[in-house]
Amino acid sequence: MKLQEYTASAHNFEQCMKCTVCTAYCPVVPANPRYPGPKQAGPDGERLRLKDPYFFDEALKYCLNCKRCEVACPSGVNVADIIQAARIKYSKSKPKLRDRILASTDFMGSLARPFAPLVNGMTGLGVTKAVLDATMAIDRHRTFPKYAGKGFEGWFKRNAAAKQAAFKEHVAYFHGCYVNYNFPQLGKDFVTVLNAFGIGVELLDKEKCCGVAMISNGMIKEAKKHADHNVAVLGKAVAAGRKVLATSSTCTFTMRDEYPELLGVDNTAVRDSIQLVTKYLFERIDAGELKPVFKPDYRARIAYHTPCHLEKLGWGVFSTGLLKMIPGVKFTLLDSNCCGIAGTYGFKKENYAVSQAIGKPLFDQIGRVAPDFVACDCETCKWQIEMSTGLTVKHPISVLADALDLEATAEANR
Ligand code: SF4
Ligand code: SF4
Repeated sequence: MKLQEYTASAHNFEQCMKCTVCTAYCPVVPANPRYPGPKQAGPDGERLRLKDPYFFDEALKYCLNCKRCEVACPSGVNVADIIQAARIKYSKSKPKLRDRILASTDFMGSLARPFAPLVNGMTGLGVTKAVLDATMAIDRHRTFPKYAGKGFEGWFKRNAAAKQAAFKEHVAYFHGCYVNYNFPQLGKDFVTVLNAFGIGVELLDKEKCCGVAMISNGMIKEAKKHADHNVAVLGKAVAAGRKVLATSSTCTFTMRDEYPELLGVDNTAVRDSIQLVTKYLFERIDAGELKPVFKPDYRARIAYHTPCHLEKLGWGVFSTGLLKMIPGVKFTLLDSNCCGIAGTYGFKKENYAVSQAIGKPLFDQIGRVAPDFVACDCETCKWQIEMSTGLTVKHPISVLADALDLEATAEANR
C-alpha cells in the first residue's frame, strides 16, 4: 500500500470532537507561540489540507512528535500521526546538511568511533561549538554525547557471544545506535542481567538505526530503507522463536508503531515480538518465572522520568515496577513532563530555547527531589537531563546490574 493511501485510511481526524484537551497537554504550545497546537495542526488542519494542500503550514515542524496529544485525546484521534504524515506529504522544506548529519546516527557513529578521543575533545571545546552554531545552526549551549572508542557489537563478539550457547533460552537484542557507538556499557549491563536470569542473548543479523531521527528530519526514503531492512532481520529472529528486546523506549516505539503509521512499512509479522526489556523482565518476574536476588546493602534514592514515547506505549509501569522491587531503593516517580529534547530537535539553534523551556518544570522538580541519580529508558532524555541538571541518568537495566547479586540470581534461576 502506498503511504498516502495508508495514512488517509489510518488517520482518523473525523473522530475529533473539538474538546481541545490535546492542546492543553501539548508541551510546545506554551513555549512557542509560532506553533498552532495539535488540534489546529492535526484534525482541523487535515480537513483543510485535504481540500487544498495550500493550507499546509510549515510551522508543523515545531511539533516534537512526543505523542502527548494522543495520550490525552479522549476520542482516540492519532493527532501526532496526522501532523507527522502531513509534514511527510506536503512539506516543501528539504533536510539541510545539519539535519542529515544529526539524523544519520549510525553513519556518523561509524565515522567518529575510530577517532573517539579526538572527536569528544573537539566537540567539547567552546570554539568548536561556536563554529557549529555559526555555520550549521547547532546551538552552542548543547552538550554533545560522547563516542565510545570500542563499540558494543565488537565487545559482544569478543567477550560474550561464545558464552551464550550455554543458556537454555535466548532472546535477540536490538541495541540501537546509542549503545553501539556512544554507550556500550548499557548493552553490557543488558547481557549481564539477562545472563544472570539464565537467558542467552543473540544480536540481530546486522540491525540498522531504527530511523526515528530520519523521520523527524524529513529523510523519509532513508528511514523507509532502514525500516524495511530492520523488519527483515527482525523477521529472521522471530522466525527462530526469539523475542526481540530493546533497551531504548524510542527505538521500541518507532519499530512497533511509526513504521506502519508514518512509513507505510508492514511490520505485522514482528510487531508483537518487539518489547522493551523492562516489560519483559517485570512480567516474567511477576509471574514467578524469573527470580531476582538483590544485594542486601544496595541503597539508592532514584527519581524516575517516564519518556514520552514510553507513556504512549503505556509501559512506564514496567520500568517503575522493576525499580520499586529493589529493597534498598527510595523511589520517586517524577511528574509527567516532556524533557524537551525530542531527539535532534533540541540540538537545533531555532529550537534550543523552546526545548529548555519545555524541560524546565522537569529539571526544577529533579532539583527539589535531589535524588542520587535519575532513571530513564530513553537515551536522548538522558542527554537532556544530564546536561540540564548535572545529575547522572541511568537506564533501569543498569540499575538492576548494580543492585542484583548476580551470582545468587544465577543460582536461583538455574
Ligand atoms: S483531544 Fe482529541 S478530540 Fe479533543 S480536540 Fe484534540 S484531537 Fe480533537
Ligand atoms: S506530538 Fe507533542 S508536540 Fe506534537 S502536537 Fe502532539 S503534544 Fe504537541
